[in-house]
Amino acid sequence: MLRIPCPWCGTRDEAEFRYHGDATRPRPTAADTLADFSRYTYGRDNPLGWHLEWWLHVGGCRRLLKVERHTLSHEIRWVGTPEASPAPEVQAP
Ligand SMILES: [Zn+2]
Repeated sequence: MLRIPCPWCGTRDEAEFRYHGDATRPRPTAADTLADFSRYTYGRDNPLGWHLEWWLHVGGCRRLLKVERHTLSHEIRWVGTPEASPAPEVQAP
């Protein structure tokens, strides 16, 4: 069972949240092409490993949050507000 620590409500069951998409892809601007909009709307990656995602707390505060989740183990190592970002990983020398 996935438990998500909402920054505003505390840790809650996954059933209160709805996956809201990939948080790593920047939204296209008006200057971008139709192909860029199409790729943003319909293109999906299926990464294995740590991934930054949007989740919506529909059964609670109804706010968007960013969740860094491992796509295989579902472990969550970071949760933040939409403006925040996880610290970059420290690379071994
Ligand atoms: Zn919440």
